[in-house]
Amino acid sequence: MTGKTATGKCLCGAVRFEASDVPDSFGVCHCEMCRRWTGSALLEVSVPTGSVIWQGEDHIATRRTSDWAERAWCRECGSALYYKVTMTGEFAGNFDIPLGLFDDPDPFTMTHEIYIDKKPESFSFAGDDRKLLTRQDCIDRFSLLGET
Ligand SMILES: [Zn+2]
Ligand SMILES: [Zn+2]
Repeated sequence: MTGKTATGKCLCGAVRFEASDVPDSFGVCHCEMCRRWTGSALLEVSVPTGSVIWQGEDHIATRRTSDWAERAWCRECGSALYYKVTMTGEFAGNFDIPLGLFDDPDPFTMTHEIYIDKKPESFSFAGDDRKLLTRQDCIDRFSLLGET
């Protein structure tokens, strides 16, 4: 954690956020749920929940998408806003905020891709200097079953 601050917003601007404790890295999730939710893959910056201030919360809709997590979007424009583990305990979640919502998406480095075995064969990100985890790796690592 670098303690950086950052701001961002959805497509229509009804929902905005200000975050502190923003890491300089991001991860990619290719799981089937993130693929359908985003239309491609989730590129997510993981920010501690207590470090994010949301504005326009009335416009935030959430859906519990598994026994342990929810996904949120803007009711007005449909932009994906965050993925969050809602389960209490050691996996209790940060806000995983899509990279594309950040006003300045440049100063982040991709450090890992998960569910890499679920990535469509038609595209790949350039470079190879990052961790790649398969669905099974994720299950082994996080003791979570199924999709994230
Ligand atoms: Zn919006
Ligand atoms: Zn996912």
